[in-house]
Amino acid sequence: MRLLLIEDEEGFAKALQASLKTRHYITDWADNGRDGLEHGLSNVYDVIILDIMLPEMDGLTVLRKLRENEIKTPVLLLTAKSELDDKVTGFDMGADDYLTKPFYHEELYARLRALTRRQQTTEPQTTAYGDIYMKQGSNELYCHTSGTSLPLNGKEYQLMEYLLLNGGQIISREQIIEKIWGYDSDTEYNNVEVYISFLRKKLQFLKTNVSIQTIRKLGYKLTNN
Ligand code: CA
Repeated sequence: MRLLLIEDEEGFAKALQASLKTRHYITDWADNGRDGLEHGLSNVYDVIILDIMLPEMDGLTVLRKLRENEIKTPVLLLTAKSELDDKVTGFDMGADDYLTKPFYHEELYARLRALTRRQQTTEPQTTAYGDIYMKQGSNELYCHTSGTSLPLNGKEYQLMEYLLLNGGQIISREQIIEKIWGYDSDTEYNNVEVYISFLRKKLQFLKTNVSIQTIRKLGYKLTNN
């Protein structure tokens, strides 16, 4: 699970980040609204934890701009006690939940579990493009045309799923690294290329019409020939 925490109080943010790490959440932290929005627009997060009072751009504006840009990542708003009106406005703007500061970390974990569960049940059970598809809960990549399937290992699986979820849209190497290896990882671009080449071999073996196209300087996308 990758989280984005947009929060300007450094001590609070660092403590939360450390606490989330013990629960195996990888959390990127932005300390102002403008940076937070930029991170959020990358669309690589499972949940965004968003403070309302922020420098550069306030949380509600960040939320509005995310939704205007079709970013559907669940957003958990952090509000101060007195900000009831903000809460209402937040829901109107597409927030999924809110938590009033101060809160117990256990309370946050419970909300996060609920938000990620909700997200999973609204996603389709199969992820498909052209004649290939993956089923949730299985590590196999299937092909309708040839009627065959192949197992994918962890990173191959995540990468293939990410490509499928983006349909025929281009995803950049940076997005792939952020999504699969994590924002702070020192993964090199050629690691991405290695996994892309593994997937290409598997697609060939499946005799599918779908292939992974390299778009020079931009990234990769699936094409259906
Ligand atoms: Ca704040």
